[in-house]
Amino acid sequence: MGFPSCRSHVDEGAPADTKVQLLSPPMSTPCIITVAITGSLPRKENNPAVPISVAEQVESTHAAYEAGASLVHLHVRNDDQTPTSNPQRFAEVQAGIARHCPGMIIQFSTGGRSGNGLERGGMLHLGPDMASLTTGSCNFPAMVYMNPPDLILHLAEQMRNHAVKPEIEAFDLSMLYQAVRLAEEGVLPNPLHIQFVFGVKNAMPALRNVLEFQVAELKRLKPDATWAAAGIGRHQLEVNHWTLELGGHCRTGLEDNVRYDATRLAASNAELVARVADLCGKYDRHPASCEEARALLRLRPAA
Ligand code: ZN
Repeated sequence: MGFPSCRSHVDEGAPADTKVQLLSPPMSTPCIITVAITGSLPRKENNPAVPISVAEQVESTHAAYEAGASLVHLHVRNDDQTPTSNPQRFAEVQAGIARHCPGMIIQFSTGGRSGNGLERGGMLHLGPDMASLTTGSCNFPAMVYMNPPDLILHLAEQMRNHAVKPEIEAFDLSMLYQAVRLAEEGVLPNPLHIQFVFGVKNAMPALRNVLEFQVAELKRLKPDATWAAAGIGRHQLEVNHWTLELGGHCRTGLEDNVRYDATRLAASNAELVARVADLCGKYDRHPASCEEARALLRLRPAA
């Protein structure tokens, strides 16, 4: 791969001249590549590469980091593969990633499949860099994704208390406007960072004109905000293309899509990340280093 990976920027062992070369990517706009490694749904039966145990999650994140991911979006599982919000499990994976992937941004999911109500924020005291927050309810393939107003306020408050930056997961158009309102009310911090999610059955379909509208509205209402987009299943790659072209940040990973293409399963999270990293050049972009990603998202430098 011809782009500096996250690791290149922290590789103390590289000779000085190599390091300069790696630190001087083409004059292009960095793209933060998020890897969503596990999620709540996919199981080994769907793709044996889905990381479930703590060791598997750390190893899979590390390979994705080497391939160019600077942000990991994290759900954790029980040993029987069922989703959980168990803070102990989050703590173990967080420690492993911090040790093996220096500088990588760690984002916990507060998604609804891994617990109910207040449980969903029960690990925020661990102080990850970021956590996901959905600013409304919508239908999922076989359930209602419940995010009532009082739960949103509670999760936002926990994030404020523990200096965790929210990533707003917008599964539907109204969620964008609710995030803007909450930022104006001081419930959410500025600048906002929004992930537009496309292709969840029964929620927003993957439509480029909708993404363009959302991005235009976000720029109009919150010019300092940053944004990313994710496509679920077969929409993953096309949304990556749109996002690179429109100047946003990309998400990939087995949580959203267990396949590489119509003919085969993805070999790993790293394979999906490497594909996005390689695509960056086509749009005059490069994969953001962890330092660049932290600066773009106004996060604290890595410890
Ligand atoms: Zn997730």
